[in-house]
Amino acid sequence: MTARPKDEVRDALRALNEQFAERLRRELPALAAQAERLSGDMAGERRAIELDDLRSRLHRLAGAAGSFGQPALGREAWRLEQRIARWLEASEPAEAGFGELAEAMRELARKDLSGAGDTAPVPSLEAEPAGQCIYLMESDPQACRLISQTLRTFGYQVQACHDLDGLEALFRQQPPDALVLALHACDALTRVKALQAGLERPLPLMVIGERDDFDIQLAAVRAGAEGFFTRPLDLTRLESRLARSLERQQGEPYRVLIVDDDADLTLRYSLVLRGARMEVQALDEPVRLFETLHAFNPEVVLLDLNMPGCSGLELAQMIRLHDDWLRIPIIYLSVETDASRQMEALVKAGDDFITKPISDSALVSAVFSHAQRARALSAALTRDGLTGLLTHASIKEQLLVEVDRARRSGRPACVVMLDIDRFKQVNDSHGHAAGDSVIRALANLLRQRLRRVDSLGRYGGEEFLAVLPDCSATQALRIFDHIRERFAELTFSAGGASFQATLSAGICETNPALDAGTLLEQADRALYAAKHGGRNQVCVAD
Ligand code: GH3
Ligand code: MG
Ligand code: MG
Repeated sequence: MTARPKDEVRDALRALNEQFAERLRRELPALAAQAERLSGDMAGERRAIELDDLRSRLHRLAGAAGSFGQPALGREAWRLEQRIARWLEASEPAEAGFGELAEAMRELARKDLSGAGDTAPVPSLEAEPAGQCIYLMESDPQACRLISQTLRTFGYQVQACHDLDGLEALFRQQPPDALVLALHACDALTRVKALQAGLERPLPLMVIGERDDFDIQLAAVRAGAEGFFTRPLDLTRLESRLARSLERQQGEPYRVLIVDDDADLTLRYSLVLRGARMEVQALDEPVRLFETLHAFNPEVVLLDLNMPGCSGLELAQMIRLHDDWLRIPIIYLSVETDASRQMEALVKAGDDFITKPISDSALVSAVFSHAQRARALSAALTRDGLTGLLTHASIKEQLLVEVDRARRSGRPACVVMLDIDRFKQVNDSHGHAAGDSVIRALANLLRQRLRRVDSLGRYGGEEFLAVLPDCSATQALRIFDHIRERFAELTFSAGGASFQATLSAGICETNPALDAGTLLEQADRALYAAKHGGRNQVCVAD
């Protein structure tokens, strides 16, 4: 059997702790010897230099020890560091204290460092493997059929049951990726809450309530609901919520940059964060900061406050000099426990403080919550409000990037323009809100059916633009014809009436001789041909 990634991380952390203990076995006697020398004969200036060196070595030890399974040692190092700092601040060092310091250092060196190999379980935010299996509980057979069918059209696998016993039976086989439950009473939610509690991480849950009073919504939230719906059910909205929750769970890993001069500590933080499914890059040379920001495009930056050469606070201020990086949260890592100095740092630049030593789970949750918020904010700026797809400007930018990439790789990409057919009539006959839900449904369908590497934007009102890297026109035609068929199968309802909609699309394959503007024009011309040919069809530019 192969080791699970979490076990691998745990083993790696254990090995790191052991390595750190090894380092301490060499370093602590050296520190004790240094303290010993201080109590001997030494010139005042030389003594001040030695003291400062000892202080900074203790500072690093204080920051690292707690993270490597030696919290008591970390606290002791911190206490000694503070003591030396006080001596250094007063111009006349307290000579009498040196003997005591040397003894305290020897005491440190004598400490039993075994047991450092034990490390707490790594907190996991690992996503379930893709598959997007939904368990639907709905006692009304007709509604059950309609919801299942619609969700299947969007590409989910749906397993339906009619009551809680059925749901529990399904759960015993295997938990799904998300739950959609139609409920009549609060007590049912207590059983759902119990099911959720048995899982490592609660599943995205959408509740369809027969009523929408306070009690049932409270019970829904307690059972882990992320969406609450009443009848008549807006299936497009339900699917949007579901997609958003699943996206949050299974989205791209967050990118985290760590800038710290302590290589061991950086390695440890990296392992812990990677164990929680984040992508981590470590930087120990602050001069390469901007180069790394450009290349890695982090969503969170962790900065050590005390580094030789320049401080974390200065680095944070440098990052904040540029509009491009304004949205990146900056978290300081420091042994600094003085609240007023922390506040001072935060006033100048930076968003949060993590005081070393930090537990693995506290590190993961601090980074995760900042990353989550940063991503949501950035999405709000580049995403269209109705559909969550890229805005006109962002998708055009993405088109340039992909056209350039295709030219360099020599592999074809496809540009696709889509437009909903006779959409004015939809609005006129069923109202603007119904029209909006058709736009949203198409956006969700596209999102479900396209790959992660494909870019997708709302180009205009009911027009969409997709860019598919590494895809020939023949492949794109097959994909979009399938999407066209699925879209035509969807049934919408508004004001008691139900209706359907169709779409037309135009495809153009990249070619080194054509620039992005020309590709767009050709895709648009192919779309026009599809409209002209009778709509509800996909054409490829010739
Ligand atoms: P064709 O098949 O040729 O594309 O016909 P059409 O009616 O879809 O084309 P046209 O471009 O004439 O009409 C598009 C309509 O889309 C006009 C506009 O009122 C409507 N529209 C644009 N944006 C939105 C929106 O955000 N919501 C809704 N409900 N309607 C929108
Ligand atoms: Mg149009
Ligand atoms: Mg149209």
